[in-house]
Amino acid sequence: MHKKSMGHFLCPVCGREYDSDEIIWKCTCGNFLDLIYHPEFKRRKIEQREKTLWRYFEALPVSEKSSTVSFKEGFTPILRSNLFGRDLFLKLEFLFPTGSFKDRGSSVMISKIKELRVKEIVEDSSGNAGASISAYSAKAKIKCHIFVPEGAPEPKLSQIQFYGAEIHRIRGSRDKIAEEARKFAKKLYYASHSWNPFFLHGTKTFAYEVCEQLGWRAPEAIIFPLGNGTLLLGSYIGFDELREIGIIEEIPRLIGVQSSACNPLFRAFHENLEKLPEIEVRKTIADGISVAKPVRWKQILKAVKETGGEIISVDEEEILEALKELGRNGLYVEPTSAVALAGLRKIEDREELLIPLTGSGLKLGERMKEFL
Ligand SMILES: [Zn+2]
Repeated sequence: MHKKSMGHFLCPVCGREYDSDEIIWKCTCGNFLDLIYHPEFKRRKIEQREKTLWRYFEALPVSEKSSTVSFKEGFTPILRSNLFGRDLFLKLEFLFPTGSFKDRGSSVMISKIKELRVKEIVEDSSGNAGASISAYSAKAKIKCHIFVPEGAPEPKLSQIQFYGAEIHRIRGSRDKIAEEARKFAKKLYYASHSWNPFFLHGTKTFAYEVCEQLGWRAPEAIIFPLGNGTLLLGSYIGFDELREIGIIEEIPRLIGVQSSACNPLFRAFHENLEKLPEIEVRKTIADGISVAKPVRWKQILKAVKETGGEIISVDEEEILEALKELGRNGLYVEPTSAVALAGLRKIEDREELLIPLTGSGLKLGERMKEFL
């Protein structure tokens, strides 16, 4: 049988390369790594398979089918909708097993980690990624440590604890927590949703699904809530691969929306900055994208620019209005997910748009009352 190529790691800063079967999570220069991977697959073969994200097995960097850690997730529905008077597509990413799109990344990353025989991992997250990685670690019987900010929403912390992960509460900014997690990971494996390239090769399945569900074509533009950029970057990788294979001709315009309470990427994009600006983070109801220093910021800006996309900033009132508009249409999502819809109102072009609804409102429990 033809053995799948697993690609290789490349450091985007110093250019060093590594075998992708090495158990490493950073370059010797200290930077995160990318996975250079070129999938090969036949559409017809895929179309006959079960409707989960694992139907794209040939496009995923896992060698053996027996390594997959899966709850049969993915292939989330796409709805045609009309919100704020605009026709658009919605992809219901909150219907994943743990309630957010992060399961795409976790399923693929934890499968790879299982294949590499890693037994203990570390992650830092404000909630959704932590819950997701904990669930898949539980299924794979991998010991999992989650570093969380002190004020992280309680329902999400309970979810993480139910999956049996160990919680480490850290005081300070998100960046400080990430730093603590990396220190802790010195002797362990850092399974971070923002650092680990296998996670992005999971979120890229979003692009594959969108494309297949629309009849093997891409929409003109996609609007994402933007913090660490895990879904936007994964989509970029996915659409780029689909273009390389020859299934689509062009990558959609990738549009990111940030909360004005924390919008370093918005500023870097519009002010053409060479460095991320130092910003003072204010409190926002979109806590899932409150990231002052997204580690892959250069890649995010590149993906947005290259696809003719843009970065938009919205304020709390606008996010709240979008959240209510979704509710009025029977869609119960967390405020972070409403950010993309809030951004839609600032787009003039009458292009064909798709918005992922990334996380369930059920995850915030009683806290949703505050937004009524
Ligand atoms: Zn390097």
